[in-house]
Amino acid sequence: MSVSKLVKMVKFNNGHVYPSLGLGTWQATATVDESGQQAVYEAVKSAIDIGYRHIDGAYIYNNEKAVGRAIKDKIKEGAITRDDMYITSKLWNDKHEPELVQTTLKDTLKDLGLDHVDLYLIHWPFSQIKDSDDNLVGIDIPITETWKAMEGCVKAGLTKSIGLSNFNIRQVKAILEVATIKPVVNQVESHPYLTQKKLKEFCDKNDIRLTAYGPLGSPKRSWADQDELAVLEEPVVKKIAENHKKTAAQILIKFQLQRGLLVIPKSANPERQKLNMDVWDFELSEDEIKELEFLDKNIRYFPFISAKDLKEYPFHEEA
Ligand code: NAP
Repeated sequence: MSVSKLVKMVKFNNGHVYPSLGLGTWQATATVDESGQQAVYEAVKSAIDIGYRHIDGAYIYNNEKAVGRAIKDKIKEGAITRDDMYITSKLWNDKHEPELVQTTLKDTLKDLGLDHVDLYLIHWPFSQIKDSDDNLVGIDIPITETWKAMEGCVKAGLTKSIGLSNFNIRQVKAILEVATIKPVVNQVESHPYLTQKKLKEFCDKNDIRLTAYGPLGSPKRSWADQDELAVLEEPVVKKIAENHKKTAAQILIKFQLQRGLLVIPKSANPERQKLNMDVWDFELSEDEIKELEFLDKNIRYFPFISAKDLKEYPFHEEA
């Protein structure tokens, strides 16, 4: 059986299904020049060959053209159809003004070469623009207004589902108060050092799925500290990996899947893409899940510190 047939699908609150495991594409290359774009193109093509059908992207990753080209070429080859694929993109912080939302999604669709995405997220709960000195400054656009415009994207057929990213409980509640179309997911950082227990409980109650980004601790972040605790090196994770004859990365991915999260590990390396997908032939025990959850230290690898003074910075609150 092909790996793609093994990927568990999850059902969203709007009835649409989505593959629980997808490919991250942030920093799929260190550069956005021609060779960088080629690397993203190759990464998405090999992922599709391996069986990935869910691709997580964003306008700000500056590589949606290459992602789109890879999908188009795989369709042309007959390897997949458009309907086999589940494509996510995200609205960047400088496009929160309601009148910019649909045009920004249309730009993304043009880059991807698609007529719709499957899931469109508000990337962060705050808005920022560049001032005349190129500094990012916050601007006050109510996130609920942006949400209304996101709903307009569904009505216009530009996306099947809409959701959030990096929203805390208070901010999700604010959206739920005005939503006529509910968010289907909240995409947030998660790994055993940041299990998002409270946010998960709240989202579970409201039938909103969490998607775990940085599930491997995003080891090649430019701001990664040499002395930081790396979740891939965590002894408990390694011990559990040995028990199952699996890799640490596979344990971190399976941890999220068994907790009911979607998970989007990034790899541009075909061997690691394959390994990250090979998580369907074993189960973690309840005790192992508990042991991993017990590692929570509230470590955020993505604190977005430069935004910490903005009114809607999400991480001052506990969850
Ligand atoms: P990640 O998936 O935790 O880690 C990716 C890094 O781990 C890459 O450098 C990759 O290198 C390496 N890697 C992959 N598989 C590995 C394995 N089996 N063993 C050892 N190393 C491995 O981090 P991430 O890319 O930051 O997060 C995943 C995705 O989430 C992103 O790509 C993006 O799509 C999304 N994201 C969203 C937000 C948001 O604000 N919503 C923020 C961050 C990320 P190689 O490529 O060389 O394999």
